[in-house]
Amino acid sequence: MRRIVIVGAGLAGLRAGQELRERGFDGELSIVGDEHHLPYNRPPLSEQVRAGDMEPHECEFSRDDVDASWMLGRPATELDTGRRIVRLADDTELRYDGLVIATGRRAREWPELTAMDGFHVLRGLDDAIRLREAVASKPRVVIIGAGFIGREVAATLRKRGLEEVTLVDVASHPMPVLGPVIGERAARLHTDQGVGLYCGTKVERFEGADHVEAVHLTDGTRLPADVVLIALGSVANTEWLRDSDLELREGNVLCDERCFALGHDDIVAAGDVATWPHPRADGPIRVEHWTNAAEMGRRAAANLLDPAAAVAYVPVPTFWSDQYDAKIKSVGLFGRSERVSIIEEDLDTGCLVVEGHLATTWLGRSPSTRTSRSPPTNGN
Ligand SMILES: Cc1cc2nc3c(=O)[nH]c(=O)nc-3n(C[C@H](O)[C@H](O)[C@H](O)COP(=O)(O)OP(=O)(O)OC[C@H]3O[C@@H](n4cnc5c(N)ncnc54)[C@H](O)[C@@H]3O)c2cc1C
Repeated sequence: MRRIVIVGAGLAGLRAGQELRERGFDGELSIVGDEHHLPYNRPPLSEQVRAGDMEPHECEFSRDDVDASWMLGRPATELDTGRRIVRLADDTELRYDGLVIATGRRAREWPELTAMDGFHVLRGLDDAIRLREAVASKPRVVIIGAGFIGREVAATLRKRGLEEVTLVDVASHPMPVLGPVIGERAARLHTDQGVGLYCGTKVERFEGADHVEAVHLTDGTRLPADVVLIALGSVANTEWLRDSDLELREGNVLCDERCFALGHDDIVAAGDVATWPHPRADGPIRVEHWTNAAEMGRRAAANLLDPAAAVAYVPVPTFWSDQYDAKIKSVGLFGRSERVSIIEEDLDTGCLVVEGHLATTWLGRSPSTRTSRSPPTNGN
């Protein structure tokens, strides 16, 4: 294999490049990114960068060990698997012997376009900088979506002294994917810190002329707002694959257990954009968390280099989320639990350990998966 192209200059793409070089690949390596930035770390965007504690360039990953041709600000627009060519927006054609797809996902926008100013999403560095400028004057902020990013931003804004921060979610509690036991505690965490929380209700409409002035909910509530953050999850960056013969599942690249795009032994996918069959799940899954992007980027690259020796990617998924002084950590496929039990809870400190039991059985046992909430530690 002489030419490898990685599309997506994020965490999974960077780790794939590092793995290729560490394993001795000495051919041509091209890394294509649609952003103008070199690969950077996203978790600080919802906290340190947004709050001004970290400058954007401090989020950059070290890439000294990746000898590659970096093609930034140039999105891939087309894939021809027959001719083994990736086409870029400027019509450059990149030939490959091996291809890594690591284009991640982007923030889901509000479904109806509005001409009003004051709306934000948070996925990339440029979004974080725009949001940081918008909240500098301590405006009233309404966050639609109480998932990970919505809650992390709410916590940072309150810590920075914004008086009016409100979270809205259609689910009956925040962090809906983690279920009501965690969700109810997450709700308390925010209301104790003065965040307005409206769950089980929807946005009916936005009020304003040039700039948003309020958010109206279906329960009749009117929330005055100068800034609205749309935090409604993500969509896959796979439009450039639409005319290729790759199989997509809910927009993501569908892979086999070794990270190869189905039916292609010269194409792998990794990170947020990949869906693959995990043996502990009841079907192909995608994992939109940091550790998975890093580990899958490495495994996919190793398999691509030597398909004959390729092994299945069977990680124990993990994630963390920092909110106020609490750190939420999860190990396993907690979101897929059929039932959960509280293992430990300390009402004074707020420490909580919850175990989830999966519906599937493995070697006759119901596998368990854990999530805990604890005061902060230095590492993740
Ligand atoms: C604000 C924020 C906070 C987070 N906090 C946490 C956390 O606390 N804990 C945790 O576990 N996870 C967290 N995550 C999730 C974690 O950062 C992601 O799972 C991880 O970044 C995914 O890496 P990736 O390389 O798959 O995708 P990305 O990091 O999204 O990288 C993909 C890159 O490909 C580019 N691209 C897209 N389309 C094209 C194209 N056509 N051509 C070329 N390039 C393209 C994208 O612009 C992007 O630069 C957070 C994410 C965000 C956004």
